[in-house]
Amino acid sequence: MNEQERINALTAPLMAWYDLNQRALPWRGVGDPYRVWVSEIMLQQTRVQAVLGYYARFMAELPDVYALAQVSGERLNKLWEGLGYYSRARNLKRAAQVLVNEYGGEFPRTREELMRLPGVGDYTASAIASIAFGEVEPAVDGNLLRVAARVGGIAEDIMDAKVRRRFREMLAESIDRSRPGEWNQAMMDLGATVCLPNGAPLCEKCPARAFCAAYRNGMTDLLPLRAPKKARRVEERTVFLLLQNGKVALRKRPAKGLLAGLWELPNVPGSLDEAGAAITLAQWGLRAVSLAPVGAAKHIFTHVEWDMHGYLAEVEGENDEFFRADAAALQAAAIPSAFRYYYDMARQALAAQQGGCDNGTALL
Ligand code: SF4
Repeated sequence: MNEQERINALTAPLMAWYDLNQRALPWRGVGDPYRVWVSEIMLQQTRVQAVLGYYARFMAELPDVYALAQVSGERLNKLWEGLGYYSRARNLKRAAQVLVNEYGGEFPRTREELMRLPGVGDYTASAIASIAFGEVEPAVDGNLLRVAARVGGIAEDIMDAKVRRRFREMLAESIDRSRPGEWNQAMMDLGATVCLPNGAPLCEKCPARAFCAAYRNGMTDLLPLRAPKKARRVEERTVFLLLQNGKVALRKRPAKGLLAGLWELPNVPGSLDEAGAAITLAQWGLRAVSLAPVGAAKHIFTHVEWDMHGYLAEVEGENDEFFRADAAALQAAAIPSAFRYYYDMARQALAAQQGGCDNGTALL
């Protein structure tokens, strides 16, 4: 068999396997494009287990495109808090507004039209079109690429756009034309539960075992092939927990770029010693009544890593750039998980200032 024939050979046993082994997920089985869309956007770069709670809360509060089109940016960020890649949430709302204003609240039914919506790329459009509307389109994500590379025995760099296009064509030929949406979900499930990444597939449970090239040739460790990633840029940052009159200072991030428009604890580039931290406070028009280091934390984004260390300072003075949040406002603000370590510390510091004992549930 050649590569294409092996991939084609998977379709029938895959569908039989899926009928018995499919994962029960809350967005499945209803054919509702809104549910498919929201779940697929949440699942980008995020594990299913991490998404389930977010998805349930999101659907309870924003059950359709009309509710999503009208939600405030602040509330949307709060519902997304901790999921990361916040531009996904902003694009969801923008796309919902387009659906309401230009499509009468209905989803377009083809991959091509769906791809005109903000934040909807080839994968998401194909998933919605196939699952909700039965269009015959493979939704090519990392799972499908991995399964196809292994079954077909294709040792080509899946990070290369040309190679991915070739995979897409091969998968488009092999898709089950009578059940395209379920075929996509079957491939996703096989990749997520059996043909696992990082050289650890469970081949003895796999419907492709009899003809999978990687299994037969002992190449499951080598496939799929990926060109090495560029090293992440490391940025040092100094984070400030600024306390004043029972409140902690927050600042809005710029409208563009990393974590755009979200609240943050004030921070500056570089790793400042105490003298440098005091100078920064002075530049902000603040004076430290007390200043103490509060430890280091790290956060890894896709292309950059923040190595942070922080200072807790009681301050005097005014700075219009900062919003001073009491415990309730701190709880309501959507603060990215990059700041989680310092955010928790800020909660505890506020509780201690108010003479309370924060047991972890008093404010959250
Ligand atoms: S036989 Fe193994 S390597 Fe091949 S598709 Fe199945 S799980 Fe993946």
